[in-house]
Amino acid sequence: MNTQVLLAELPQGPLTEAHFEIRTVDIPTPGPGEVVVRSILLSIDAANRAWMQGATYRSAIESGQVMAGYALGEVVDTGGDSSLRPGDLVLGDLGWQEYAVVKARRLQPVPADHRPLTDYHTILGIAGLTAYHGLITLFGVDEGDTLLVSAAAGSVGSLVGQIGKIHGATVVGIAGGPDKCDWVVNTLGFDSCIDYKNEKVSTALRDHCPNGVDIYFDNVGGSILEAALGVMNLHGKISCCGAISQYEATSPVGTRGVPGLIVTKRLTMKGFIALDYPDLDPTARLALAGWAAEGKLTAPIDVMDGITSAPAALIGLLAGNNRGKRMVRVGADPAF
Ligand code: NDP
Repeated sequence: MNTQVLLAELPQGPLTEAHFEIRTVDIPTPGPGEVVVRSILLSIDAANRAWMQGATYRSAIESGQVMAGYALGEVVDTGGDSSLRPGDLVLGDLGWQEYAVVKARRLQPVPADHRPLTDYHTILGIAGLTAYHGLITLFGVDEGDTLLVSAAAGSVGSLVGQIGKIHGATVVGIAGGPDKCDWVVNTLGFDSCIDYKNEKVSTALRDHCPNGVDIYFDNVGGSILEAALGVMNLHGKISCCGAISQYEATSPVGTRGVPGLIVTKRLTMKGFIALDYPDLDPTARLALAGWAAEGKLTAPIDVMDGITSAPAALIGLLAGNNRGKRMVRVGADPAF
């Protein structure tokens, strides 16, 4: 049987378990060009919540649908499709369910012998590409730069800060709570971290960044972006990765300082999507895997068990319960 999690109702404000419904159906059979994939590791992303607000870089999620989500899985039934074989590992939008029927051409095969499989959601996956392209491909970072990173303990932010350190930057994080900030500094190796839940961010930024900020990697938008604009250096750069502070807002707020401070400080603000640079993805993965092999980069993971835990996993991520890349183990690794 196939357990699925549906988005029963679109949220207006904070997401709760009541917005989801769990049901069990038969394992699907593939149609022409389709294969059946058994889900192994489901990625839980802030973007999952943004998709409920409307169309973004993908179409909006409607109520009554199986919740969309990117996952690693194993092909178990190829139907008549000859491009994939049973046992192949693939990445794709498998949704929040144990078995998905998907067009074979929409799946990305990955090597079946690489372990741990969690790497496909961290250094070899979207989080790694987001961190690399958002920092290195967009702007680069130089020795002596001050790099500021919000959502610093999250999947993307944790990698961005470490990449900054590898390049000789002074790296300041922003995260929620004293324990997280301590972890960001003492485990991830950031130079310092501002606890935005207990400190006034604009004041703390002046203390933590006495030479101003050259690059701000913005995962959150909202009032933290507003505060960061105040400490940006002349010709500073802002990598606009996401705006998690606004994903649950019923009336999203604007940011004071845009465009005023962009003009007077000659700032460059640039948005990007992780999938924008396919030609550079091999370079990015090689660099990330190389730093990891040298022990310079760790990819923290935060794994919950069972497809029915997916709603709690996303709600918890939005509340800041995760450290590093949150994912749900839906099924067993075929090697074990
Ligand atoms: P993370 O693993 O970073 O987890 C999200 C974190 O955001 C939480 O742990 C929480 O940590 C923090 N957070 C939640 N609410 C707020 C708030 N109001 N203000 C400040 N921080 C908050 O999740 P993702 O890696 O999935 O996403 C991080 C960002 O990267 C998101 O904005 C997402 O949309 C973006 N993204 C963009 C991509 C792209 O291609 N451009 C690709 C992937 C992600 P804390 O305890 O510190 O509050």
